[in-house]
Amino acid sequence: MSEYRRYWDTKIETQPRAELEAHQFALLRQHLALAYGESPYYRDAFEQAGVTPASLERLADLARFPFVDKDIERQRQLQRPLLGDMTAVREEDVVFVSASSGSTGVPTLSPFTRQDFEEFQDVQSRLFWAAGMRPTDRYVHALNFTLFVGGPDVIGAQNLGALCLWAGTIPSERLLFILREFQPTVIWTTPSYAWYLGETALHQGIDPARDLAINRIIVAGEPGGSIAATREAIESLWDARVYDFFGISDIFGACAGMCEERDGLHLAEDHILVEVIDPATLAPLPEGERGEIVFTTLRKTARPMIRFRTGDIGTVDKTPCACGRTHARIQITGRRDDMLIVSGVNVFPSDIEYVVRNLPELSGEYRITAYTEDFTTRFRVEVERALGNTDPAEGLAELVEHRIKARIGVRPRAVAVLEHGALPRATHKAKRLIDER
Ligand SMILES: [Zn+2]
Repeated sequence: MSEYRRYWDTKIETQPRAELEAHQFALLRQHLALAYGESPYYRDAFEQAGVTPASLERLADLARFPFVDKDIERQRQLQRPLLGDMTAVREEDVVFVSASSGSTGVPTLSPFTRQDFEEFQDVQSRLFWAAGMRPTDRYVHALNFTLFVGGPDVIGAQNLGALCLWAGTIPSERLLFILREFQPTVIWTTPSYAWYLGETALHQGIDPARDLAINRIIVAGEPGGSIAATREAIESLWDARVYDFFGISDIFGACAGMCEERDGLHLAEDHILVEVIDPATLAPLPEGERGEIVFTTLRKTARPMIRFRTGDIGTVDKTPCACGRTHARIQITGRRDDMLIVSGVNVFPSDIEYVVRNLPELSGEYRITAYTEDFTTRFRVEVERALGNTDPAEGLAELVEHRIKARIGVRPRAVAVLEHGALPRATHKAKRLIDER
């Protein structure tokens, strides 16, 4: 065992649930008062909903407060440039903004005060520590630095004491050079890029498992990191352990991350309060049920986020983890917008990924096309053979169809088996769903 302590912040991370919730309640009251007192947007929104900060008599009363979402954020920002009127501080108190790379039009900005930024980095240190990073590690930060909220997370690794390499998003050849020459032990990237980078290394005669020192891979940005078969495929390619992290551009680069148990992603619940709602009725769901994840910040003062609909679908588990941490663990299934409803069944690309990654006959790459036929949503799936596989295409397609039906209860309209390498390789976020509806 290592000489280091087990937790980054023992008192907070192992706080008994009742105490943690009392702490959250105190923070939330303050935070609602700040939003109501300082942000014209929240004052109006609360008044329209018939609530004031005093309406919160227990944590569950948060359900009486209105939601915010990306569209509201964008509108408020456009109406009151630069930062909009959801902010609760003056611009002169803001020291950093990130901008989301949203696919629709104007990027939304996320402001931080000096204290917000320091607390953000402390949460990142906590999550890195939980994932096993220690001062003895060499860490390569392979995320975008340009306006991206995950860029500054490297400071969290530095504050933890790791030796940090600020790589950013550079061509794979350059990154492989860093991995070979500096022999870092930890890297953070997306799951699809971890896979791509490993395959690229092999093509260049570098065996990631043997020639490189990476023993931990932090992934985020796609559901793959929480799919055991995807993790295992990356792990055997690299001979490393994969830890899934989950970030929200409007809050923190990482809001939650896997501990060594890797049974869900621990939230920093002293910074973020989580709810799960039914995305159709907006009603809060009981613990354990799958729905849309809603986050409320508890400390970020520059722009409080009260009941922010993340657009991500998942579950929350508030039971203590085997690691000793008491903070809730979330499991993300996919984006609300990527969810297909086929014959009344919710289908996520991650469900298809689970099937494809569990078949050794396939390469693990896949693509889903959703389309409408007879006024009904249908989908077809393209998969690829594993390198060297020569099984008859018909049999393989049947096998995939059968496994998908067994996993989710509905059948794809067609499965096409392509040759190895036929599907495009993602170097950033993989586009797995083509929506022709
Ligand atoms: Zn844990």
